[in-house]
Amino acid sequence: MGCTHDCSSCASDCKTGSSNESMKTQLNKQSKVRKVIAVVSGKGGVGKSTVTAMLAASMNREGFSTAILDADITGPSIPKMFGLTEKALGDEDGILPALTEMGIKVMSVNLLLENDTDPVVWRGPVISGTVNQFWSDVVWGDVDYMFIDMPPGTGDVALTVFQSLPIDGIVVVTSPQQLVSMIVEKAINMAELMNIPIIGVIENMSVFRCPECGREYPIFGESHLEDVANRLGIKVLAKLPIDSEFAKLADEGKTELFVCPEIDDAVSKIK
Ligand code: ADP
Repeated sequence: MGCTHDCSSCASDCKTGSSNESMKTQLNKQSKVRKVIAVVSGKGGVGKSTVTAMLAASMNREGFSTAILDADITGPSIPKMFGLTEKALGDEDGILPALTEMGIKVMSVNLLLENDTDPVVWRGPVISGTVNQFWSDVVWGDVDYMFIDMPPGTGDVALTVFQSLPIDGIVVVTSPQQLVSMIVEKAINMAELMNIPIIGVIENMSVFRCPECGREYPIFGESHLEDVANRLGIKVLAKLPIDSEFAKLADEGKTELFVCPEIDDAVSKIK
């Protein structure tokens, strides 16, 4: 009913759309990626990129070959978090991902722009096309876990990424405020509509833990994580405190040095 036969702009779970393998972008021929995990949030600023970086670093420490595809094209922050400043290089096989100090493979639009501060003033289809090219034209090689730092929200680009890349599951990142605001539920419902399994939810900035006395302050309001997760039938993967040490290391491009037990625990639930 009402089908325009244009699956690229439709989230309907119909036979034509959801089983249409021809809509999937082909992975680069020299590459093999075993698991693809998309990290999503309802809106920007909740720590989606931070959590993506920490999950990848923890997975890498576990000995898995790990990669990050930065699909947040208009707000790319992954290269800075790992102190990556060199531009990406290419050869006849395609674009080569940058390597972090610990060996995580990264591709981001900021590794291709002449200046880090150049804005990406592109329309939706061009942005989606770039994400698809990161999948098809980057020589990822052998990867056990690829984390996709998704654009925030449920817009055009997120829809295309869900449709065109073979995503095995999503991790939802939220703050206590956003969790109760329905924005997160929209992101979860979108994934369900597209038949993508939800691995679980991570509440970031859950509390502020005082570095002096260890007391915890719920500065963004009391957490309702367990209630909401129960109601939606999704797993809680972690609750992360606001940690000034982490913000400092991320700003200095040393995300890999930060060991976070809560994230290590989340990774053990993802594997
Ligand atoms: P998003 O990707 O959702 O837009 P970011 O991951 O870029 O958000 O995080 C926004 C800012 O908040 C960054 O400066 C980051 O270092 C900081 N931040 C995120 N999570 C935490 C945390 N748990 N503790 C301290 N700072 C954090």
